[in-house]
Amino acid sequence: MIKENGNISIDTENIFPIIKKWLYSDKDIFIREVISNACDAISKFQRLVSLGEANAEEDEKYRVTVSLNKEKKTLKFSDNGIGMTEEEVKKYINQVAFSGATDFMEKYKDKMDEGKDIIGHFGLGFYSTFMVSTRVEIDTLSYKEGAESVKWICEGGTEYEITSSDEKLNRGTIITLYINDESSEFLDEHKVREIIKKYCSFLPTEIYLEDENKPKEEPKFETKKNEDGTEFKEEIKPEAPKPLNDTNPLWMKKPSECTDEEYKDFYRKVFMDFNEPLFWIHLNVDYPFNLKGILYFPKLKHEFEATEGQVKLYNNQVFVEDNIKEVIPEFLLLLKGTIDCPDLPLNVSRSFLQNDKDVAKISNHIVKKVADKLTSLFKNSREEFNNFWNDIQIFIKYGCLRDEKFYEKIKDILIFKTISGEYITLKDYLEKAKEKHENKVFYVSNEKQQSQYIKLFKEYDLDAIILDASLDNHFMSFLEMKESGVHFTRIDSDISEVLKSDDAPNDDASKELNTKIEDMFKNSLGDKISKVSIEALKNEETPAMILISEESRRMAEMSKMYATMNMPAGMFNEEKTLVINNKNAIVKKLASVYEDESKKDEVKFICEHILDLAKIANNELTPEDMDGFIKRNNELLNKLILL
Ligand code: ADP
Ligand code: MG
Repeated sequence: MIKENGNISIDTENIFPIIKKWLYSDKDIFIREVISNACDAISKFQRLVSLGEANAEEDEKYRVTVSLNKEKKTLKFSDNGIGMTEEEVKKYINQVAFSGATDFMEKYKDKMDEGKDIIGHFGLGFYSTFMVSTRVEIDTLSYKEGAESVKWICEGGTEYEITSSDEKLNRGTIITLYINDESSEFLDEHKVREIIKKYCSFLPTEIYLEDENKPKEEPKFETKKNEDGTEFKEEIKPEAPKPLNDTNPLWMKKPSECTDEEYKDFYRKVFMDFNEPLFWIHLNVDYPFNLKGILYFPKLKHEFEATEGQVKLYNNQVFVEDNIKEVIPEFLLLLKGTIDCPDLPLNVSRSFLQNDKDVAKISNHIVKKVADKLTSLFKNSREEFNNFWNDIQIFIKYGCLRDEKFYEKIKDILIFKTISGEYITLKDYLEKAKEKHENKVFYVSNEKQQSQYIKLFKEYDLDAIILDASLDNHFMSFLEMKESGVHFTRIDSDISEVLKSDDAPNDDASKELNTKIEDMFKNSLGDKISKVSIEALKNEETPAMILISEESRRMAEMSKMYATMNMPAGMFNEEKTLVINNKNAIVKKLASVYEDESKKDEVKFICEHILDLAKIANNELTPEDMDGFIKRNNELLNKLILL
């Protein structure tokens, strides 16, 4: 018997097109909406029970059941939650814009226990069902004493029909969707299971999925023998169906109650990553907003893997979306984790998030927590921190470049690996090097290429840091900009000052000698080298070495990077200097015969050879250089044989 035909309130006229458009790209979410409504209804009922305002059955098992029926083309969602009276159906379902949740919160807000919020602040969720249905029915029975069951039918327009339900109902609600032809995929068990897993894996009420067309498993019997030998049949119960979700996700637990094993387990399960995470941060905030979650620092196999993080955002255990940049700062998206933030609406537009002050607060808070955790690791478990460094440095450096506030928070715990294998802060490095080379931070960008210089540094008890990640060029410039007085200098740049012998004579005679050496090399080498400088180096065995000016090298590297900018070729060449050691025996001897015309060819020969040896130490012979070098070596052997 039809009790009432009516028109859904005018608000819907504009709301329908909006929902349709909004949902068009992602129809799946109607399942999330209906299931989260069912869970809400159950938690509302549980709250009433705990307040003594409703009675549950003894041992009542709360659950949401999704049943699909391919033949009837229906998808049903049943719950044993609070149910609705006729009045409530009219109010909550018909007056779409009027959110039932808001109303409920209003009434019970003083009695709410912390943390258990009601999902979804928008009144649009239920209507998303019309995206996939030709007809939607609600059968519901309120928990209220003497309530009568209600049936509501709507075929997607603004008209609806209310009758008394013909189904024999227990308390709760059944939503039946008659799936339209274009959406038949939602009658596929596999597909529905996937969607439930995606959005509802951590909902607080157990969710079951069943196929109405699948025959119920018949009980089986096994023949067994009594002690006296007589046979009897024992019933083997079919395995009880398992819920699809984990109703107690780890992030909801108190951090102090979680074990390392649980954290690792959860990580494996949620991210399907079987490498152990390095460490994690368990967020648990009640004030000034609600935020729970776990962020994992994954172990990286190589630098570029770092872009594959995944941070899942939840709203009261309902999955919202992966990697929402507005809530989780972009550089944190290199991590893997779950963030549950009930204060954010379930359905939100990006532009809303960008303009919401709370969202910015939440985002800042997450950054702060991450910085705190890193700082406490640095302070309390320095060795572990050092061990993690290789894996986390990319993330931290990227974070510094992207977020100045993050940099300010962690700048004192930035560490660098040195050529002696230690990990050291910039401050400690500078402190150690103070007397030898003030404010200069020597670094190695390629351990293999710069190995000769590293050796030299070690011999003289000098230290340099290794900066060989692709991000390091930017990072160095960033630090130079931030920390006044810090200057990064590659290990093969201007190191003559630190390698200079302390007892270099400075009299007229030695000045004269230097001029002579300079002349000799310049004349012998011509344009093979642009700059020659004469120094007294500590290591007397080295006749000469190549140094590349830090500035010109950086310019050259930059111009290579921006090669498309039409800069004239050779505009930024690296400026190389051949540093000649006036304490070296070969150099001294050469200088003493320089004026002897008859030795002219030998002098040129040896000068060229010294240049090539210096180049080899810097790993940079061109094919032509190599040719000349080999030729000269052969000549040398020839001369030796004749001796
Ligand atoms: P919201 O959940 O944001 O309030 P919805 O459109 O999803 O908006 O639902 C509208 C209202 O309908 C809910 O607030 C609730 O009062 C009512 N409702 C929907 N589904 C159920 C259900 N399974 N049991 C009881 N009430 C429900
Ligand atoms: Mg809802």
